Amino acid sequence: LADRLQNTIQKIRGKGKVSEQDVKEMMREVRLALLEADVNFKVVKDFVKRVNERAVGQEVMKSLTPGQQVIKVVKEELTALMGGEQSKIAVSSRPPTVIMMVGLQGAGKTTTTGKLANLLRKKHNRKPLLVAADIYRPAAIKQLETLGKQLSMPVFSLGDQVSPVEIAKQAIQKAKDEHHDYVLIDTAGRLHVDENLMDELKQVKEISNPDEIFLVVDAMTGQDAVNVAQSFNEQLGLTGVVLTKLDGDTRGGAALSVKAVTNTPIKYIGMGEKLDAIEPFHPERMASRILGMGDVLTLIEKAQSNVDEEKAKELEQKLRTMNFTFDDFLEQLGQVRNMGPLDEILGMIPGANKMKGLKNVQVDEKQIGHVEAVIQSMTKAEKDNPDLINASRKKRIAKGSGRPIQEVNRLLKQFEEMKKMMKQMTSMQKGKGKKGGFK
Ligand code: GDP
Ligand code: MG
Repeated sequence: LADRLQNTIQKIRGKGKVSEQDVKEMMREVRLALLEADVNFKVVKDFVKRVNERAVGQEVMKSLTPGQQVIKVVKEELTALMGGEQSKIAVSSRPPTVIMMVGLQGAGKTTTTGKLANLLRKKHNRKPLLVAADIYRPAAIKQLETLGKQLSMPVFSLGDQVSPVEIAKQAIQKAKDEHHDYVLIDTAGRLHVDENLMDELKQVKEISNPDEIFLVVDAMTGQDAVNVAQSFNEQLGLTGVVLTKLDGDTRGGAALSVKAVTNTPIKYIGMGEKLDAIEPFHPERMASRILGMGDVLTLIEKAQSNVDEEKAKELEQKLRTMNFTFDDFLEQLGQVRNMGPLDEILGMIPGANKMKGLKNVQVDEKQIGHVEAVIQSMTKAEKDNPDLINASRKKRIAKGSGRPIQEVNRLLKQFEEMKKMMKQMTSMQKGKGKKGGFK
């Protein structure tokens, strides 16, 4: 599913002209991709409508790079959909501030309780009291106590024979007595939303009068997360959502729908099992993640500020007429370089994150230098017409550039292949006719 949207984006990115039909077809793909990424269908519908309005309007049509502009609109609207940055935690004017953690079993409530306590102490210099109010799940109390030990923080528990309501009540009293400014109540979850669970949570809410009720949802449950959020919100009135397990390979489409359906902000995201694996939620980053395109916007901006528009047009013309030479190639390399350090750029290219792991980005920078050297050792005639380059010329070029002859060969071959590819691309574009579809 990631591929699908990526393909669409690839296709539209380079578009010189975008027609209403183009936008429609792209939005159809975006729509499918979002649905596949587990975004709620109602949300998708509204979203597509909004993007359509903007994309078909002046904003996009008039821009020099309409294809990129459409992507930009998509991303902006995704970001808007998820709301602003919402990492603030309530502070009660009459301490302690009470935070109730709710959610289904296995969502990450207990872990997140520990993470939040850690964050509150580290970042906000607070003194939280952890409360073990899950008396049902075997070893749930023990789990929180272990976390407390790891954090050197007190955990309040009364075992599993006292009701969660009573536990909450006594915990808050204790917090007052011992001057804890935050009380984090780790409640029980079920495998599914059920009435008993909700009743109990409502009672705990009543007695503890929480300043925040955070729903913890597992991002990997996708669309289900939205339904869960909706029921919890209806029953309890949530103040925030924590989306966990985003360190997995989930796309996070749930993030979009959760906010849009429940109108409850996502405040934090969980990025791992460790106690510091919690981050404030950044809608923009999530939008990138959902689009699976790295920080494309930044890349686009960089490219726009560095690539001379006139030159880009000229280049496009050359590509169309197939007069693309090694000189043009060289110039392109130069422009890529102007954008900044290669590793930085690579990090922004979708899919390149994987390459980053190899830590060989410096090599690439060097390689560009080598390629430049080889090209610069060609004569003007050779650059314009690489077919001229026979064995003895290759030898001369290799010598002149200080690069092995294999490298000269490789470059020539790559150049040929690139031309072939461009030829295919341009003929494909022509084949699409006036309608300008994407297929
Ligand atoms: P609870 O039943 O809602 O209290 O869930 P737990 O806190 O016990 O978490 C269930 C499992 O999910 C545990 O194995 C946690 O380590 C794991 N978990 C929680 N949050 C995250 C997260 O952000 N990333 C990952 N990878 N695992 C998490
Ligand atoms: Mg738990």
